[in-house]
Amino acid sequence: MSDVQAILKRNLEDVRRRIADACRRAGRQPDEVTLVAVTKTVDVEIVRILHRLGVTNFGESRPQELWRKAAGVPEVRWHLVGHLQRNKVEDTLPLVCLIHSVDSIRLLEAIENEAQRLGRKVDVLLEFNLSGESSKHGFQPNDQRAFQDLVGMMRGLRSVPVRGLMTMAALSADREEARPTFKALSGIRRRMLDILSIGHAVLSPPIDPGHDLKHLSMGMTNDFEVAIEEGATLVRIGTALFRGLGR
Ligand SMILES: *Cc1c(COP(=O)(O)O)cnc(C)c1O
Repeated sequence: MSDVQAILKRNLEDVRRRIADACRRAGRQPDEVTLVAVTKTVDVEIVRILHRLGVTNFGESRPQELWRKAAGVPEVRWHLVGHLQRNKVEDTLPLVCLIHSVDSIRLLEAIENEAQRLGRKVDVLLEFNLSGESSKHGFQPNDQRAFQDLVGMMRGLRSVPVRGLMTMAALSADREEARPTFKALSGIRRRMLDILSIGHAVLSPPIDPGHDLKHLSMGMTNDFEVAIEEGATLVRIGTALFRGLGR
């Protein structure tokens, strides 16, 4: 086994063990949490090695990088975890299993239109900016009007099931500082499910494509254990997997 392979194997085992430990602390099953390896700092050869080591879900934050890597390694599941411009929707949809980072109603509309044109469904998550940092994308939870508009718009979708929510906590040396952000995302999901289910009682039959809001995509290298304790179903991890590769 090459050095690179040995390092990746050890890092992966370490991450998987930490995921399992966090699940145990939270009384959850390890298979409730999916590891998405975020590969923006490494190349396709590393993706292939991780795939051979058993990782099946990979994430990229830039659409063009995702296109390039998905062309090189088409046999894995690709997730877009960063901002998607509307003019890149057409080239991105055929390559991804899940878009984590839908951050505007206009983008949601563009994805709906393209999904209808393709005659298929496209699973998405809605990204919320809960850390208040203006550098981050995402819906603002405190804008009640925008929140109502968003949920109203979701009712009209046919081809884009909203499978859950995503957020990024502010970077901090103390991982506990991320916990309120993750709790807040879970609270928004509850609120959204409430509003949607009230809608269902009125609208019969339901017209939406199945917004189950099942997933919470939260937790990165610095805070994934706290995120799992707060209900994460998808953790997006880069740095912890690629430590020691000498870059
Ligand atoms: C880079 C990135 C990650 C992974 O972050 P690490 O701290 O390296 O684990 C997760 N999510 C998004 C959106 C990213 O851009």
